[in-house]
Amino acid sequence: MRLILLGPPGSGKGTQAQRLVQKHGIVQLSTGEMLRAAVAAGTPIGLQAKEIMANGGLVPDAVVVGIIEDRIEQPDAKKGFILDGFPRTVPQAEALDDLLKKKHLKLDAVVELRVNESALIDRVEKRAEETRARGEEVRLDDTPEVLINRLAQYRSLTEPLIHYYSERRKLLTVDGMMTIEHVTREINRILTAIGALEPKTEEPAAQAKKAVKTATKASKLAKKATKGTKKAVKPAQKAARGPAKRASKARATKTGARAASARKGAKAVKKPAKKVTKKRAKR
Ligand code: ADP
Repeated sequence: MRLILLGPPGSGKGTQAQRLVQKHGIVQLSTGEMLRAAVAAGTPIGLQAKEIMANGGLVPDAVVVGIIEDRIEQPDAKKGFILDGFPRTVPQAEALDDLLKKKHLKLDAVVELRVNESALIDRVEKRAEETRARGEEVRLDDTPEVLINRLAQYRSLTEPLIHYYSERRKLLTVDGMMTIEHVTREINRILTAIGALEPKTEEPAAQAKKAVKTATKASKLAKKATKGTKKAVKPAQKAARGPAKRASKARATKTGARAASARKGAKAVKKPAKKVTKKRAKR
């Protein structure tokens, strides 16, 4: 699975990325972390990035694209990865598209964590406090002044990516104001829905519920097909009622087998409904 987590500073990208890593055994590629490591190690990239980061600016696209390109090549990224903090600009997103295309890799989704800006300053202040309490060094850019600049950068350079990925049908938006646990659950739910994750084995009750839904849909379809034809309505509705009845029985007995038969029945409904309308049309 290949994912991008998109959101302003303090939206919870890092937290959610770590949870996804634990659950799905893929790696988190955080350009922020990599750059901080480069700064700490005093590498040429670190020296170039140090000032920019301390002021809340963005490191040049070519630098971060280069870092990501190297990182994606590593064996631990073969199974999949979560990009956290990259891409941050449209040119970075374009470079990533090219990179993935060249390697014949597919991006599964871009998960946008949407949060109220007013909550962000509080969150970042809290993060700084907690870091201090653990006796660790607080990030130089985790101050309200620098955060304002980081937010401004986000709005002008990163936010256009929402449109970029929505146009490419990759964007999935999650409410980042919920609890950490809720956000994780919601991310996993939507990733399962798009087929990026293996679905959990369904409970029989859930299967029966689905069957009822299918049968109801079929009944609606049948009604629609026979609209305006008094005589025709009866057989079509009768046919539709069959699976609906069976489906509700399945719900009561909670057995997957009955649910499956209800689904089959629901499919068969469409035919008599069509036939009836054809007859009417001939007359
Ligand atoms: P946050 O998401 O909390 O703002 P990060 O840890 O992702 O913080 O990034 C910290 C800093 O590292 C950014 O403010 C920026 O200076 C630099 N940086 C990280 N990723 C990128 C990127 N993709 N492009 C340019 N600069 C980046």
